[in-house]
Amino acid sequence: MNYFADIAIIGGGASGLVAAITAKRHSPKKEVYIFEALDRVGKKLIVTGNGRCNITNKNLKTENFHGENPQFAMTVMGDNPNKKLEEFFNSIGISFTFEENKGFPASFQASSVVDCLRFECEKLGVKTVCKAKISDIKFGKEFKFAFSDGTVTAKTVIAATGLYSGGEKLGSDGSFYRILKSCGFKTVKVTPSIVQIKTETDFVRQLKGIKVDANATLYKNGNKIRTEFGEVLFCDYGLSGPAIMNISREAARTDEMCQISLDLAPDTDKDTLAKAVLDRANTLKDRNLEDFFTGMLNKRLGQVVLKYAGLKLADSVTDIDKIASETIAAALKDFRFKVTGNTGFINSQVSAGGISTDEFSDKNLMSKRYKNFFACGELLDIDGDCGGFNLTFAFLCGLVSGKAAAEV
Ligand SMILES: Cc1cc2nc3c(=O)[nH]c(=O)nc-3n(C[C@H](O)[C@H](O)[C@H](O)COP(=O)(O)OP(=O)(O)OC[C@H]3O[C@@H](n4cnc5c(N)ncnc54)[C@H](O)[C@@H]3O)c2cc1C
Repeated sequence: MNYFADIAIIGGGASGLVAAITAKRHSPKKEVYIFEALDRVGKKLIVTGNGRCNITNKNLKTENFHGENPQFAMTVMGDNPNKKLEEFFNSIGISFTFEENKGFPASFQASSVVDCLRFECEKLGVKTVCKAKISDIKFGKEFKFAFSDGTVTAKTVIAATGLYSGGEKLGSDGSFYRILKSCGFKTVKVTPSIVQIKTETDFVRQLKGIKVDANATLYKNGNKIRTEFGEVLFCDYGLSGPAIMNISREAARTDEMCQISLDLAPDTDKDTLAKAVLDRANTLKDRNLEDFFTGMLNKRLGQVVLKYAGLKLADSVTDIDKIASETIAAALKDFRFKVTGNTGFINSQVSAGGISTDEFSDKNLMSKRYKNFFACGELLDIDGDCGGFNLTFAFLCGLVSGKAAAEV
């Protein structure tokens, strides 16, 4: 079948659905099509935020966005991004509720976000063609592209295909990114971000399943890169949890030696901690080291920290002298793990890198190379931190490019 579209959106995910609705609202007479590779639109959106969809964040700052030009994200999102987003979602029947700065649909159901986006597409007459994985594109006065069952001619195109995170089942195979790369678009190396970190396993494996609140710091070649406070989960392969996911980006982007240091007592300085350890030792003289931390730390964690500090659990608490108390405090403040890798795109929430933002206008997301060709969301070299930043960027790209495409 041959399709003729005034506006063709490639990819029916977060940014593509919003772009389609926005384009059709601004230009109701134009034929707006979504071409989606999977059998349904919004498959990734449904699994976001553990099915709750962390739709936005009240505190959008440049430092929460990454790429060669993070300011690009702020310029695209413009003034009052939260207000624009909330107005859009209210208009399709979704009100927001906030947990601290994190915004969610009041239903706490990601599926309801997809439903409301679909209902609005249907109401407006946006045409959706699923199982339409676009396999090439020709740029000219009009755009021509194809999928297994059809060809498309379009006056305007919005590319909203994402990258690799979440894997093929969620439509993230990077196919359209590679097509654009082969067409000469400048790209920035793509790596997983917001991803679990693999480490040397001697200690983490013994702690599998334990969660702690800690300051997690990434070191690259001994230099401090980034610290995040939050939950850390010990796994048999390494470390997970929000604090780790938020410092994972730089570890995944380098071949240089990285380490993660956990500060298990972030509110207490090392000297005070050493004194507290010594006081505890004086109080609990009758115990073996095996139970020294019992009642203060998770029992297994306490034992492993002591082993990490070089002590033997069979020894007596009376062996903790001033020097040992300082060693134990140092271990609690700097429990360190050598990074050996990450769990890959399939387990990552976002892909860092992508099509260079140099290729697109930060005013309306139109290509500087090809007039009337736009790009949105994760496909671009912008990625955000954990906490609603990635969906916010994707949705606002949809608002901006949809409006601009309608005005062409
Ligand atoms: C498990 C998980 C949880 C997440 N949770 C959150 C969260 O709570 N908050 C948050 O802010 N971010 C979250 N993210 C990140 C967020 O989902 C993405 O950053 C966002 O969806 C990107 O939007 P997008 O429109 O650029 O791409 P996508 O939403 O990935 O949409 C791209 C669409 O294009 C289609 N497509 C791809 N290639 C082709 C092709 N060649 N032809 C046609 N169609 C194609 C895909 O099938 C897909 O439907 C999460 C990600 C994952 C994997």
